[in-house]
Amino acid sequence: MISLRSPREVTLMKKAGATVAYVLNHIGEYIKPGVSTYEVDRIAEEMIYSRGCKPNFKGYEGFPCASCISVNEMLVHGIPSKDIILKNGDIVTVDVGADYKGYQGDGAWTFTVGEVTDPKVLELMEVTKEALYLGIEQVKPGNRVGDISHAIQTYVEAHGFSLPAEYTGHGIGTDMHEDPAIPNVGRPHTMELLRKDMCICIEPMVFMGKPHCRTLSDGWTVVSRDGSWAAHYEHELHITAEGCEILTKEEED
Ligand code: MG
Repeated sequence: MISLRSPREVTLMKKAGATVAYVLNHIGEYIKPGVSTYEVDRIAEEMIYSRGCKPNFKGYEGFPCASCISVNEMLVHGIPSKDIILKNGDIVTVDVGADYKGYQGDGAWTFTVGEVTDPKVLELMEVTKEALYLGIEQVKPGNRVGDISHAIQTYVEAHGFSLPAEYTGHGIGTDMHEDPAIPNVGRPHTMELLRKDMCICIEPMVFMGKPHCRTLSDGWTVVSRDGSWAAHYEHELHITAEGCEILTKEEED
């Protein structure tokens, strides 16, 4: 079932989204060589509470932390750990969510650790971020989910990178993951019709190599089978009469 949000609900969604934006816009200051992903998660959680929200990832299907932190060949759902120490040249994705009065925010961003010099890694990050914005350009009433998927897939594959089809974006509202799924691969003019006042998350998750994944024995961390690195950017959106507004953008203050 797809929910349309009232103006009051959109206001609450905006608060949750702004909190996620705040974390993603400031957590980069703490991402440096020698820091553990556990420490990054602690800071993210403090930031969420400091904005009057709760960390909605914590306890979600038993997930133990406020954020998913995925390093290098990890695609998504990395569990923050004192044993995972960031090194110069790594890339790390922080995926984080906030609950404000029962309404959900969700977003992700990939960061460099120290200095990343491999041009292919920098291209992976740029292409994934650009794919997110190309997907967002397709969001307006009357378009379909497949228009978003096609824009992402076409751009990513043209650069020789790949998208594991089993990981998708999603609707969002009072639950973090609602209908419809927003796949990163698909054909134009297919799947759900986009309507005013739907809220969705678009999140291209991109591998440098082949699109095959496996889940580690911790039951969460998804990595590439071929060891290739991954990037992942996610924005939460509210569909308006004209197009959409990004709820996870940095607050202007
Ligand atoms: Mg998401």
